[in-house]
Amino acid sequence: MTRRCAIAVLALGLAWPAMAADKVRVVTTIPDLKALTQAVGGDLVDVDSLTRGTQNFHEAEVRPSMMLKLRRAQLLVENGAELDSWVDVAVTGANNPTIVRGGAGRIEVSRGIPLLEVPTTRVDRSMGDVHPQGNPHFSLDPGLAPIITQTILDGLARVAPQHRAAFEQNRAAFLQRLEAQLGGWLKTLEPFRGARVVVYHPDFIYFLNRFGLVQLGTVEDRPGIPPSPQHLANLIKQMQEQKIKVVLVEPWNDRKLATRVAEEAGGKALVIASSVGAVKGADDYIATIDYNVKALAAALR
Ligand SMILES: [Zn+2]
Repeated sequence: MTRRCAIAVLALGLAWPAMAADKVRVVTTIPDLKALTQAVGGDLVDVDSLTRGTQNFHEAEVRPSMMLKLRRAQLLVENGAELDSWVDVAVTGANNPTIVRGGAGRIEVSRGIPLLEVPTTRVDRSMGDVHPQGNPHFSLDPGLAPIITQTILDGLARVAPQHRAAFEQNRAAFLQRLEAQLGGWLKTLEPFRGARVVVYHPDFIYFLNRFGLVQLGTVEDRPGIPPSPQHLANLIKQMQEQKIKVVLVEPWNDRKLATRVAEEAGGKALVIASSVGAVKGADDYIATIDYNVKALAAALR
């Protein structure tokens, strides 16, 4: 605790809170990881995200403001699997050796995750495919939250070992709350087990698998590649034949196109919370998953 904080505490007769200056300064690349870091760190951490939930994380633009945040960071929590590889440019500009790749203050969450859709042949990035190492959108699968929060805990405890016990307690309490919710979510989506949906960008595969739903296809030709008329015609035909009613679309994608595809197939487009903060009401991790579960159940009914 700094001297000024100590004086303020004494003067005001306050309990001994973690003052801003004493908190572990964490920066995450995306809001989902910010929410999960807050769940583990509680009031011992000060967490900032480099992107907002309404953004396409693949295409985030590196700004000087990102470098400023990173300059003071003690820990950088990165998603990895090339969702947020732009962060390396920002880290170079931040001139903070703690958070460079391989540094004590750097975590790549994807390392602990069994990634889906890992390409079996070489993916040609020059053609725009943005998932060259497999699908990087695992953060909103509540079943993976235990792994993700463990990775975050390990990183936090490395830079602030004195708080390890508190981090462990916070994590356990959060996972208990999440577990209790998961039972309800599974029940809500149980009647729709095996239902097929179309997704604009394949960022929901972990979530769909968790709840027994099936991704029939994507509006994009391949991840990050705009659809050709031929691809769309095939997709709509397939949707009609299989009576697919729902096209999931991220707030940042072409909602008009999603609506057109859905309507031509006799269904509707549904905007999902592709991240914490992506839509109104998706304010924290549990609220975001709750939003998606309820929206999907309503659309599939
Ligand atoms: Zn993606």
